[in-house]
Amino acid sequence: MPIQCSSCSEKRAALRRPKTGHSMCKQCFFGAFEEEVHQTIMAARLFKHGETVAIGASGGKDSTVLAYLMKTLNGRYRYGLNLVLLSVDEGISGYRDDSLETVKRNQRQYDLPLKIVSYEELYGWTMDAIVKLKKNNCTFCGVFRRQALDRGAIVLKVDKICTGHNADDVAETVLMNVLRGDIARLRRCTAISTASEGKGVVPRCKPLKYAYEKEIVLYAYFKKLDYFSTECVYSPNGYRGHARTFLGTSVRPSSIMDVIHSGENLSVKEGVKMPVQGTCSRCGYISSQALCKACVLLEGLNRGLPKLGIGKHHRLHDKILNQQPLTEKEERKLKAIDF
Ligand code: SF4
Ligand code: ZN
Repeated sequence: MPIQCSSCSEKRAALRRPKTGHSMCKQCFFGAFEEEVHQTIMAARLFKHGETVAIGASGGKDSTVLAYLMKTLNGRYRYGLNLVLLSVDEGISGYRDDSLETVKRNQRQYDLPLKIVSYEELYGWTMDAIVKLKKNNCTFCGVFRRQALDRGAIVLKVDKICTGHNADDVAETVLMNVLRGDIARLRRCTAISTASEGKGVVPRCKPLKYAYEKEIVLYAYFKKLDYFSTECVYSPNGYRGHARTFLGTSVRPSSIMDVIHSGENLSVKEGVKMPVQGTCSRCGYISSQALCKACVLLEGLNRGLPKLGIGKHHRLHDKILNQQPLTEKEERKLKAIDF
């Protein structure tokens, strides 16, 4: 016997919602999913009328659904936002070049302006070149991407950046921080929006924070959205992979929301010290150290010491960067480190 949609009770159900377990027809699912994202935006007051908002666009399912929804909801509910697409080209052949083609098609499909910033133009290095020197590539990529998005956003003079982080991403990050005992970071990773933390840092928000990844995939599939689904050729999946497997083994559909809510509650605990933020003495970007992480990593790359800034030798790194003399013991240690 065909199952009826539990919402309209008229049409046949086309899917079972991963978030709630309800059987629904396509139209009712679209309506419920869009309405939930709209409610998330309204409840957290993510945007103000007249703002220019950059949508971080990678061509993947999350950011494609985000771009489509922002365009749709902005028109339907008259948010009054000027939307632009902002993409980062990390310089990864066989991956980013193809996914950027998808973003360019999305630009035409959604009729939105597009700005692409590349690691090569910003830092003088592509990820392909970095990987030839250094295997631990995602550390570089993550640090560089954060700044690249901010720099692109400043060129575009936007008020905010919204990114396609979904509920699964947030729950994974909560778990990773709990497993590492890093309670101080929970606040930032569970926050739906972050204010500007200093010069050069544009406020960010996550309108899909409560949207389940499986529902994003279903939405993109049934809406026939044009997205790119290949993984990065350098993706190791490391620690996040463990958190993902851990969450994936849970049979309770609500476990993702449970983890997010526990992260939100843990993060508001008083007395958790946050690092004091200053600015990088070299590039002016926000940093709790004299040099920001991107400048330390770049210094290492340019000096042929690609491990500089990674791992546990922070004091040694600081001394080298500040060109301070090393003690004999430090000299021995430096030689022993496999740069
Ligand atoms: Fe960059 Fe790593 Fe992501 Fe690839 S998997 S885009 S190298 S962070
Ligand atoms: Zn810097």
